[in-house]
Amino acid sequence: MSPVAVAQSRRVSRQVNVDGIAIGGGAPVVVQSMTNTDTANAEATARQVHELWQAGSELVRITVDSPEAAAQVASIRARLDALGCAVPLIGDFHYNGHKLLSQFPDCARALAKYRINPGNVGHGRRRDEQFATMIEAAVRYGKPVRIGVNWGSLDPELLARLMDENAARSAPLGADEVMREALIRSAVDSAAQAEQLGLARERIVLSCKVSGVQELVAIYRELAGRCDYALHLGLTEAGMGSKGIVASSAAMAILLQEGIGDTIRVSLTPEPGGARTREVVVAQELLQTMGMRSFTPLVTACPGCGRTTSTLFQELAEKIQSYLRAQMPTWRASYSGVAEMRVAVMGCVVNGPGESKHADIGISLPGTNEYPVAPVYVDGEKTVTLKGERIAEEFQALVEEYVRRKYAPRSADARAAVALAAAPGGDAPRRIEVKSAS
Ligand code: SF4
Repeated sequence: MSPVAVAQSRRVSRQVNVDGIAIGGGAPVVVQSMTNTDTANAEATARQVHELWQAGSELVRITVDSPEAAAQVASIRARLDALGCAVPLIGDFHYNGHKLLSQFPDCARALAKYRINPGNVGHGRRRDEQFATMIEAAVRYGKPVRIGVNWGSLDPELLARLMDENAARSAPLGADEVMREALIRSAVDSAAQAEQLGLARERIVLSCKVSGVQELVAIYRELAGRCDYALHLGLTEAGMGSKGIVASSAAMAILLQEGIGDTIRVSLTPEPGGARTREVVVAQELLQTMGMRSFTPLVTACPGCGRTTSTLFQELAEKIQSYLRAQMPTWRASYSGVAEMRVAVMGCVVNGPGESKHADIGISLPGTNEYPVAPVYVDGEKTVTLKGERIAEEFQALVEEYVRRKYAPRSADARAAVALAAAPGGDAPRRIEVKSAS
């Protein structure tokens, strides 16, 4: 088979250094996430940030919406440092960010980046003053900023002005087009304003989030062509469960394939009792299934059909995927290249042996009326045949043994470098030299 292009060449963007994590400028696409705890509860927030980081989030955003929340940010940072969790924290500000950044310098220092929504900064002259106060804080503390526009909170004055201008045209655009233009202008004009206030172009990331797939694609294509700022990609209010995953993946996959997007967040609504870390796993799987990064060996499993009457192979596929994910923090530090390993768990003889041969290690379980044995394939060759009650455990042991044999052990120095360089769920050294804050 001829090689398949992973993506068109990446859009050229300025590289932004977020406390050692590179966004844009050709760096691998960064996975980020956001907490849903009350930031005023430092213990709960630090715990969730730590969980998100352990799942592989390379940046974590926290809400900073009140004096009580701002007062706890430095404590959250200290708690994370004590846990050996160096993940950069991003502060999400709306309405009162100018006050909080001025009144809580420890918060301003502890954050690695500020998210500013130009639609929620203030109105009229106060809007410019309050925006300037936040940008000046970023300049003073040497922090990058994401200018994050959201169609749910679009600057109403800008939208009204563009609507008036449009109405005066001989051939007015549709309301959707004006809305798109307003989102893009809000981001680009605010970024220009930030630069005039002294914030370097290399300290600015832009985003323009909407909740419709086709809208998002149209907006980012246009935005990407109009500037060279690094871009944060995400579908806002993506929704719950499969709908949220499908919508986010559909929108971001199109843009990533076109080389657009330097960091992504999947805005999933957690199901009741569901893990917040799901959004990190989905973001990683999106990048990995597109061939852009490797985080955890992925399991290829068939969907099952009338030829399988037991749930054995479903349980095995689930067990193996969970096992691989759990092993990765250790394996990544110990073995080079293990994240790219391909594992197959198949339900019967129809496609089982073929798919297993294409994987690095695969197992073909017995279907209905098949002889109750499970051949295992390693590097395309049938090696052993498992049978009995402990097929899952025995296959797991074979995977473990394969990893030890196939992937080169890292030296002690390399292990230390990997531990420092990546979030536990990350793939490659991602840290860049941190310049001292000016
Ligand atoms: S491999 Fe077998 S069990 Fe799995 S979907 Fe195909 S025919 Fe069905």
